[in-house]
Amino acid sequence: MRERELKHFQSLLNEKLEELLAEADRTVDGMTDAKAENFPDPTDRASLESNRNFTLRIRDRERKLIAKIKEALARIDDGSYGKCEECGENIGRERLEARPVTTLCIDCKSMQEVQERRLRGS
Ligand SMILES: [Zn+2]
Repeated sequence: MRERELKHFQSLLNEKLEELLAEADRTVDGMTDAKAENFPDPTDRASLESNRNFTLRIRDRERKLIAKIKEALARIDDGSYGKCEECGENIGRERLEARPVTTLCIDCKSMQEVQERRLRGS
């Protein structure tokens, strides 16, 4: 991949990373504000609890995405970015635009999905 393209994806990934980190900060603030003792009513407490579970699930997804973005940025640094992990071919530009953290080309990705469906037996 050319330098200019790498720079493009690098700033794309950095932007996304900053967005996610800012979002994560906000979530943490929200959680410290919403303390159980501020909700004496059990119904409120229950909804606070489910909100918190929801928040934790979101955070888990965010954390995984943040890790993927960091890996992608490391691949830009070591020069392996944009190459398929499986077959070593270049991943299509369009696919990278849509999903800059991807490590598989569209062919290997479809193959993986077929295999996963087969493993699940459906
Ligand atoms: Zn591939």
